[in-house]
Amino acid sequence: MSVTLTINGKTVTAPGGSTILEAARVAGINIPTLCHHPDLTNVGACRLCVVSVEKAGTLQTACTTPIAEGMVVNTESEKARETRKFVLEMLLTDHPNDCMTCEVNGDCELQDLAYEYDVSWPEHGGSRHSYEIDTDSNPFVFVDRNKCILCGRCIRACNEIQNRDVWNFAQRGFKTKLVAGADQLMLDANCESCGQCVAYCPVGALYDKMSLGLGRVNQVTKVRTTCAYCGVGCTFDLNVRDGKIVRVTSAEDSPVNGMSLCVKGRYGYDYVHHPDRLTRPLVRAQWLTDVERRVEIGDWRVADPHSASSDRGALVETDWDTALDVVANKFTEVKKADGGDALAVLASAKCTNEENYLFNKFTRQILGTNTIDHCARL
Ligand code: SF4
Ligand code: SF4
Ligand code: SF4
Repeated sequence: MSVTLTINGKTVTAPGGSTILEAARVAGINIPTLCHHPDLTNVGACRLCVVSVEKAGTLQTACTTPIAEGMVVNTESEKARETRKFVLEMLLTDHPNDCMTCEVNGDCELQDLAYEYDVSWPEHGGSRHSYEIDTDSNPFVFVDRNKCILCGRCIRACNEIQNRDVWNFAQRGFKTKLVAGADQLMLDANCESCGQCVAYCPVGALYDKMSLGLGRVNQVTKVRTTCAYCGVGCTFDLNVRDGKIVRVTSAEDSPVNGMSLCVKGRYGYDYVHHPDRLTRPLVRAQWLTDVERRVEIGDWRVADPHSASSDRGALVETDWDTALDVVANKFTEVKKADGGDALAVLASAKCTNEENYLFNKFTRQILGTNTIDHCARL
């Protein structure tokens, strides 16, 4: 059943059970948030989304207050804006003034809101936290608790999406601090290094360790791609700087996986630029014809010096046309001599469905064998 209410003088209709925040966003009205994320449960912790509701005695948190028929909401009342500004000032009183060198400068929700609400770094003589930066907890996750605004998004992402329940808050009041397990290293607290907590952190408290110092958001180009590791088909953005992948970030609009990625997809990209990576096909030198030898000779390089002494001959680099000709000739030879069933084929989970479909057709109809299998594991 839908509910009709008024937000900032505009009549808005939204499904019953929606929160004020959801109804406002459907109507194109922005209410600032920090602890809220649409993938996670609402906790109303940061108080940034407070709004004025007619006949309510106090400001209401838009992310946890359900809409009601005839409700009248003002998201930009003086009281709401003043309260947000005060909350931001409080957050900044215990936050390092590090934007200049921070990895997430330009991609930080706290910074954006401080700008929008004209909040500068408050001078004050009170207590500030000074936590040691945690670089040992996990091989992929950098933790700077000094920048943590205690929004709890990492806790909920790890618990509700990843089901690992690694993070939590310990202590109370000013001493409240983000801890893994019973204040352990992340890896000792059941962490599987998926990086979901990093993806949901609105500030620079959690960051991808492999990407430290390699480029901020305005220095990279994001290229959407599909993960090559398994058949799920997660998509994500390669962050590319000067032709090199410096980070992987997940994207809310990825159709298969949303913000979720596993450790391989998020952190397993260094093979792309690895010097040991094969970039050209290799064939046994003895399999090349005299013509190919003449064409390729200038380009030949023994790829693996040990292979030169192998019974099967040296492996040499060649071009794709030559390599595919060699393979086609060998297939034809074997099939002519012993029939298609002398051949067997292994497909790969790293190929797309379409490629594997074509491979299956090629195996059964061209090679003439049903001996085809597939490795879904890595
Ligand atoms: S986390 Fe955000 S506000 Fe804090 S130092 Fe980094 S950019 Fe600045
Ligand atoms: S990396 Fe994944 S499993 Fe580890 S704490 Fe973060 S969300 Fe939880
Ligand atoms: S580490 Fe980030 S996501 Fe977690 S509570 Fe702190 S600010 Fe929020």
